[in-house]
Amino acid sequence: MKFELKTYNRNTPDQELLDDLKNVALKLNREKITRSEYEENGKYSSKTFEKQFGTWNKALEKAGLQLNIQHNISDLELFENIEKVWLHLGRQPLYAEFRQPLSKYSTRPYEKRFGSWLKALEAFVEFMSIDAEQKAEVEKSVYEQIQNTEIEFKHKTKRQPSERLKVQVLMRDGNKCRLCGYIVTGDNIHFDHIKPWSKGGETVLENIQVLCETHNLAKGNLG
Ligand SMILES: [Zn+2]
Repeated sequence: MKFELKTYNRNTPDQELLDDLKNVALKLNREKITRSEYEENGKYSSKTFEKQFGTWNKALEKAGLQLNIQHNISDLELFENIEKVWLHLGRQPLYAEFRQPLSKYSTRPYEKRFGSWLKALEAFVEFMSIDAEQKAEVEKSVYEQIQNTEIEFKHKTKRQPSERLKVQVLMRDGNKCRLCGYIVTGDNIHFDHIKPWSKGGETVLENIQVLCETHNLAKGNLG
């Protein structure tokens, strides 16, 4: 037992405090830390945090840790968060990338709910593909109708692909231009109608592909 006093530092830089908070979280392998847990393991007094950040929760937030609020996250919320991160990266998120601010939740609630990170991803992919099957059914009947009438194109879908559809296209194509294989991310990902929208092409999984900016422009100019 060591007898030492907590230092009530007045001029400790914010970053140093946050770093120590993060270290304690890492040491305890926790995504949220209570004041007393910090007091036991940290270098500074929790009062110093309160003084510099306003509240304990604000310090946790700044450190990218979870707040001390009990919140039951639904499966849908967990999936929607994966969807958002996947879409942002343009590819499957890595375990190490799954943290704030990119991801709203850490991998921990996923591991708790699904058993492991891999199982969580599997559940997510299944969740997304069930949705895709339902859309494929709709798509089939839409094409049949178009082929049978061949007059004017009354679209059954909206021109802009939904966020969900974008993720499904990325899951199928990867984040590569389908024509040249160029790796695309963020703003450089273009979702192209294979059969042009102007020719009756619908915004469904089977008719959307990933293109790079160059090929998207080239295709637009041809049309
Ligand atoms: Zn390309």
